[in-house]
Amino acid sequence: MTAVAVVCVRSGALPAGTLDAVAAADGRVVLVGGDTAAAAEALGATATELWCWEVEGFAPGRWAAPLAEFVAAYDQVVLPGSPDGRDLAPRLAASLGRPLVCGVVEHEPDRLTISAWGGSVMVDVPVDGRLVWTVHPVSVTSEAHRHGDAPEPRTLEAAPAEARDAVTVEVLGPDLATMDLAEAPRLVGGGAGLDGPERFDQLAEVAARLGAAMGATRVVTDRGWLGHDRQIGTTGVVVDPALYLAFGISGAVQHTAGLGDPDHILSVNTEPHCPMMSMADVAIVADANETVAELARLLGVTTAADRSGAAS
Ligand SMILES: Cc1cc2nc3c(=O)[nH]c(=O)nc-3n(C[C@H](O)[C@H](O)[C@H](O)COP(=O)(O)OP(=O)(O)OC[C@H]3O[C@@H](n4cnc5c(N)ncnc54)[C@H](O)[C@@H]3O)c2cc1C
Repeated sequence: MTAVAVVCVRSGALPAGTLDAVAAADGRVVLVGGDTAAAAEALGATATELWCWEVEGFAPGRWAAPLAEFVAAYDQVVLPGSPDGRDLAPRLAASLGRPLVCGVVEHEPDRLTISAWGGSVMVDVPVDGRLVWTVHPVSVTSEAHRHGDAPEPRTLEAAPAEARDAVTVEVLGPDLATMDLAEAPRLVGGGAGLDGPERFDQLAEVAARLGAAMGATRVVTDRGWLGHDRQIGTTGVVVDPALYLAFGISGAVQHTAGLGDPDHILSVNTEPHCPMMSMADVAIVADANETVAELARLLGVTTAADRSGAAS
C-alpha cells in the first residue's frame, strides 16, 4: 500500500495536521501553493520525498485535476484536515474517482478510524481499495517522525486546469471566536469549575481581549454550554498553542493528551494537586469564577447587565 500527502501551503506556512499527514504517507509529500520552498525547509527531514508545485492563490477546483494526475499512482492520498485540506480533498477524490474519508484519528493498514458525535462514537472504516482521506490535525510542530537528511525538493511541473472555482475576494484574519482551535496560538480553556454558560460568555470576552481563542472540556460541551467544535482533547480538537490558560479544569488525560506541547500553561483551580495544576508553569489556587470576573473587570469587559444598565 503506497501513500502520498498533499499539503496546501500559504505564504510558506504549513497548516495544522501537516506532520500527521506526512507521517501517514511515510514522508512522501507534495506541497502546493505559495512559497513552497520555505514550507519545504520547515518540513526538513520529516519528509523523505518532496515535490513542490508553486502556484499563486488558492484554487482547489483548478488544482484538483493536475494533482490527481500526479498522485494517481499512489493507493492512498492523505491531506491535513485543515480548512484548505478539507476544501481540496473532496475535489481531489472526485478527480481520482475514489472514496473520501474525513477526519481520521487513527490509521492502520487495513482500517481508518474516524470520530463522530463530538467524539462519543469511534467508527472504523475498512481500507479495501484506493482512497483519499484527511487526517484530524494534531500538530505541525511535533518533532516526531524525523528521517535522516532532508530530501532535495523536486519541482512539480503542472498548470492549473480550466475549471470553475471559488473566487477569493479577500483574505480576512482569523476570527478568534470561530477559528479552528487547532490553529490558535493562544487558548483559554474552561472546565466544570466554571459555574454556567454566562461565565463562558464572560470568558469568551476575556479571551478576545487577550488575543486568544476559547475552548472547553468535554464536561462543558456535553452540557451544551459550548459546541463540540470547541472541545479540546483526544476526542475533540487536538491543539498545540504556545499559551494555554485553564480555568477550573482538572486535567484528565483525555483533555491533556490533546493539548499538544504549550510553551506556557497557567491554571486556576481550587484544588492545588490536580493534574492541570501540576502541568502548569503558573498554578493559581483560587476560585476560577471570581478570577474570570476580575480579569473581565481589569480588561474593561462590559457584561450584558452592564450594557442594559447603561442604556436605561
Ligand atoms: C472516551 C472518552 C473521551 C473523552 N474525551 C475528552 C476530550 O476530548 N476532552 C475532554 O476535555 N474530556 C474528555 N473526556 C472526559 C474526561 O475524562 C474528563 O471527564 C473531563 O476532561 C473533565 O473535565 P473538567 O476538568 O471540566 O471537569 P472535572 O474533572 O469535573 O474537573 C473540574 C475541576 O474544576 C475544579 N473546580 C471546581 N470548582 C472550582 C472553582 N470554583 N474554581 C476553580 N476550580 C474549580 C475542580 O477542582 C476540578 O479540578 C473523555 C472521556 C472519555 C471516557
